[in-house]
Amino acid sequence: MTSPQPRPSIAQIPPYVAGKPPAPRADLTTYKLSSNENPYPPLPGVVEAALGAVQTMNRYPDMGSTALYEALSAKLGVPTEELALATGSVGLIYQLVQAFCDPDDEVVFAWRSFEAYPIAVTAAAARMVRVPVLADGRHDLDAMAEAVTARTRVVLVCTPNNPTGPAVTQAELDAFLAKIPPQVLVVVDEAYVEFVRMTDPVDGVATYRRHENVLLTRTFSKAYGLAGFRVGYAVGPAPLAGALRAVSLPFGVSGVAQAAAVASLEREPELLERVEALVAERDRVVAGLADAGWAVPEPQGNFVWFELGDRTLDYAKAADVVGIMVRPFAGEGARVTIAETEANDRVVDLVAKWVREGA
Ligand SMILES: *Cc1c(COP(=O)(O)O)cnc(C)c1O
Repeated sequence: MTSPQPRPSIAQIPPYVAGKPPAPRADLTTYKLSSNENPYPPLPGVVEAALGAVQTMNRYPDMGSTALYEALSAKLGVPTEELALATGSVGLIYQLVQAFCDPDDEVVFAWRSFEAYPIAVTAAAARMVRVPVLADGRHDLDAMAEAVTARTRVVLVCTPNNPTGPAVTQAELDAFLAKIPPQVLVVVDEAYVEFVRMTDPVDGVATYRRHENVLLTRTFSKAYGLAGFRVGYAVGPAPLAGALRAVSLPFGVSGVAQAAAVASLEREPELLERVEALVAERDRVVAGLADAGWAVPEPQGNFVWFELGDRTLDYAKAADVVGIMVRPFAGEGARVTIAETEANDRVVDLVAKWVREGA
């Protein structure tokens, strides 16, 4: 072979299947329920802050993202050296595999879970060890602890789990951490933490303070409604956060993203009202589905999971017909974002119809 060849693992990287937007229709409003985005438009003041940053696009952004680090430090009550900003938490996942894994090192995570995990692990030529979720969509933390070997460098705990929905409890996480050797990094992916409403929820910040091997990842993409701007952050002990910052892309987080994130943190009470409204809608959808005779795994994020097996693609097609675009995983099920009231009504009505027709 004479042409340049990428590492063999590059050919093995699975593609990221992005949630599709619905095709516009003349006869009805269509809704995108395929990417767990926030359906609300930006808060007043956030657009203005971003526009302010646009005026200086000829300059590099603040490479140290000073204002955003300070705002997060104040919000969380943690020193800035225990934070690492990145281009979304997908960026963080790439960085942590890069910083902690040599080729053939193992990364343990639940499956099905977030589809960026196999991509990031394979891109780094590390090995993924996927532990099936339980029948109710929860992590099998016992099996995950047992899957840890001398080659394991990282374990990813996705809570709430995308796409199945349930979250782990603090007691479950504590019991799990007690079994994990101290040299193994445990990443708690809290992309949907703002939506959690359960007994004994995980307190991520208190947890990483008690463990030198625990790191949290969070994002502005979901509750904060900034998916288009690519900004997320890790919280963890200074040596771990520092390793993530060391491998970060210089100037990765744009000035516009920094400004919008700072402005969003300043308007947190208003944002959290919207989160509350989405949580209420989630409860309403779960109740409506139960009335229709359909149970879903306990959703703790801004989405619900329909386990549909072979019928998944039929369901996705039927959803498209009524103007809602869902995220199907062929042969497994469909993930559906909680969004506008009208869209949520259609989700419930469609399932009720399926159940009535014995589909
Ligand atoms: C959406 C999501 C993320 C965050 O993605 P960004 O890169 O921050 O947009 C991370 N983890 C999970 C489980 C997600 O669903």
